[in-house]
Amino acid sequence: MNADPIEIQKFSELAHRWWDPTSEFRPLHEINPLRLEWINARAPLAGRRVIDIGCGGGILAESMAKKGAQVTGIDLSEKALKVADLHSLESGAQVRYQLIAAEAMAEQEAGQYDVVTCMEMLEHVPDPAAIVRACATLVKPGGHVFFSTLNRNPKAYLFAVVGAEYLLRMLPKGTHDYDKFITPAELSQYARSAQLEVKGLKGMGYNPLSKIYSLNDDTSVNYLIACTRPL
Ligand code: SAH
Repeated sequence: MNADPIEIQKFSELAHRWWDPTSEFRPLHEINPLRLEWINARAPLAGRRVIDIGCGGGILAESMAKKGAQVTGIDLSEKALKVADLHSLESGAQVRYQLIAAEAMAEQEAGQYDVVTCMEMLEHVPDPAAIVRACATLVKPGGHVFFSTLNRNPKAYLFAVVGAEYLLRMLPKGTHDYDKFITPAELSQYARSAQLEVKGLKGMGYNPLSKIYSLNDDTSVNYLIACTRPL
C-alpha cells in the first residue's frame, strides 16, 4: 500500500481539531479560499463531478460542494473522515466520503471525474508519482487535475520546516519531512509521465508579519499546479 502509517496516524491524532481555524489546521483554513478560487477560475465547479484525494477533514471538499460540485472525498485516515462526515452533517455540505486508497479508487472509478484535486498530500506519501498516475486515471479526457505541495530547496526548508514548525510554531514539529518535498520540475515530470499536460503553476506565500497568505508567482516554498488530461 502506498501510504505511510506514521503519517496517517499523525493526521488522525489531530483530526478532532480539523475545523478549529486556530488549530494546527489554520494554514489549510487560510489558504482554502485562495486555492478554491484558483481552481474554480480554471475549472468552474458548479455541476461538475469532483474527487478530492487526501481530503482530510474536508476543508477543500466542502468548499467545492458549496460551489455546486458533486464531491467525493477520499483519505486513509478513518478519524479524519469521521470528522469530515460529522462536519458536513452540521454544515449541510453534501460530500461523499470514502476510506479508500487513490490507486484502488482509480481502478473502480476510472475516467469518471471532471476535476481531481490532491492538495498538501503528495509530500506525505512514499510514492507520489503513483498518486499522480491514479489522479490521471480518475479524470475524464478533457478534465482537470490540481495538485499542491511543498518545493524542495533551502528556502522551502527554512520556511516550511524551521519557520512553520520551530520558530512560529504554526505546525507540530515533524509535520513535514524535507526529503519528501517535491520540486515543480519533478511534479511536472510525474504529471507528463501520467499523460497529463501541465497548464499552470502558482506560488502560495505566507507573510509572517501580516500573517496573510496570498497566491503569487513565487513557487519556491508552497505551490499549486494545474493539469489537464488531453481529449
Ligand atoms: N487535502 C486536505 C488535507 C491535507 S492534510 C487539504 O489540503 O485541506 C494531508 C492529508 O493526506 C491527511 O488527511 C492524511 O490523512 C492524508 N494522507 C496521507 N497519506 C495518504 C495516502 N497515502 N492516501 C490518502 N490520504 C493520505
